[in-house]
Amino acid sequence: MKKKYPESAMMSYGYNPAEYGGAVKCPIFQTSTFVFPTAEEGKRQFELAYGLDEAKEGEEKAYIYSRISNPNLEICEKRLALWEAAEDGAFFASGMAAISTAFLSFLKPGDLLLHGHTLYGGTSHFIEEILPLMGVKILSFSPNESKEQILDRLKDSGELPALKMIYAETPSNPTNALVDIAMLRSLIDELNSENQIILAVDNTYMGPVWQHPMAHGADLVLYSATKYIAGHSDVIAGACLGNAELMLQIRTMRTFLGNMIDPNTAWLISRSLETLKIRMDRQAYNARKVADYLKGHPLVERLYYPGHLEAVDGRQYDIYQRQCMSGGGMISFDIKGDEKDAFAFLNGLRTIKLAVSLGSSESLAEHPASMTHAGVPREERMAHGITDQMIRLSIGLEHFEDLIGDIDHAFSASRQPENSLKEWMLEDSPL
Ligand SMILES: *Cc1c(COP(=O)(O)O)cnc(C)c1O
Repeated sequence: MKKKYPESAMMSYGYNPAEYGGAVKCPIFQTSTFVFPTAEEGKRQFELAYGLDEAKEGEEKAYIYSRISNPNLEICEKRLALWEAAEDGAFFASGMAAISTAFLSFLKPGDLLLHGHTLYGGTSHFIEEILPLMGVKILSFSPNESKEQILDRLKDSGELPALKMIYAETPSNPTNALVDIAMLRSLIDELNSENQIILAVDNTYMGPVWQHPMAHGADLVLYSATKYIAGHSDVIAGACLGNAELMLQIRTMRTFLGNMIDPNTAWLISRSLETLKIRMDRQAYNARKVADYLKGHPLVERLYYPGHLEAVDGRQYDIYQRQCMSGGGMISFDIKGDEKDAFAFLNGLRTIKLAVSLGSSESLAEHPASMTHAGVPREERMAHGITDQMIRLSIGLEHFEDLIGDIDHAFSASRQPENSLKEWMLEDSPL
């Protein structure tokens, strides 16, 4: 039989209703521990869990304790892995839990981590403030650098032999700058190092529907599942995917850090995965409509949207064509003026909510310079294009005409700042 599309498998994969009284949906296994039928069986399961012995042909691992695994956790992990065609996937208590666990699993004192700019604020803090305390060395590159420039930088640092991991976020938050995953893979292959150098990619912005980093040579794919995967602004979670060998190390670290998700969160994520494709498709459709509107707008100084790169940047467009299957659902733009104009615009929005986070059913807007990227020093922010005029939009599932109407209204309000707050309070008070 032809292999099913992932969106079809999301409704059934890994669950057999006949085993659970015919329940069409998997029940929530709200249990911390699992009963062994005999002491011998308990002993055997621990031998397998600790890797003291290999499983025999046909022998199944049983559940032991919900920090290690649980039926709800296992089902949503198997289903997520289908999207990336990955051998294994693991869910975590947050995107930061997944990312920090990946670092802690593979980096030791003296190792070098090469990372791209710009990164999610929390990731950037962990890399710049926490990893150095553990003796991990760090070096960065920008999305505009060529392979040769990055190699030269690595050689000049004198730390090339210590390189253990390359970490990139693409498109990067909040500028939508694209990093060439295949280029990083070929850089690693060229180095022909004796130690395995791991290529890890944060795919939160595009995935798992619009971009498959492993197909371009990534070893690990990381997610804030809080965003598109869970998709309803009601869950905090993260995920990591890769081959069985790397994932065994990640899972082992997770067992001892104890940062897995609970059965109820896992159940909510399985629920969300059923609508992942249709949500992301509609969000991308809406985002293109909004980007088309913003493109010609007289109050937009600069637009950052991967689907509109063709006329803007040839190199970025080339990466986009090879790597992304859609322009995605995230749009940033510089409004003409300064912080005051950006704030007046944000205060003038009514349908689009003023909040951080992204990838949810409702549209959200925020001001990266003073919110998500407030921790980045001003000079560094400016160097990466995170201006005081920048506004970041996460496009949701509303009708695109309502979104464009709202943005249109906020633009007018931004030019009469003294009126906008009053008008918003009178017309559409959420209370
Ligand atoms: C939100 C986000 C994270 C962190 O995820 P949490 O679930 O908030 O811990 C990491 N990377 C990117 C790109 C994000 O947008």
